[in-house]
Amino acid sequence: MKCLMCKSETMVDSTNTYFTQLENGYVIIENVPCRKCTQCGEVVYSALVVEKLDETLDSCKHATYK
Ligand SMILES: [Zn+2]
Repeated sequence: MKCLMCKSETMVDSTNTYFTQLENGYVIIENVPCRKCTQCGEVVYSALVVEKLDETLDSCKHATYK
């Protein structure tokens, strides 16, 4: 698998801390499985992982505190 950023073929299995900002706060998820470029640090998630992240973010977005 080639890195989208630097085109090197040094993507390795790794884990990453996923961080994103929502309307009402921040979400940090640790140890998310990914492929990481050893050259530039670019991180790529599999479709399954992206789906799971979406689910997690969705439930965060819809959380209410009333
Ligand atoms: Zn790269």
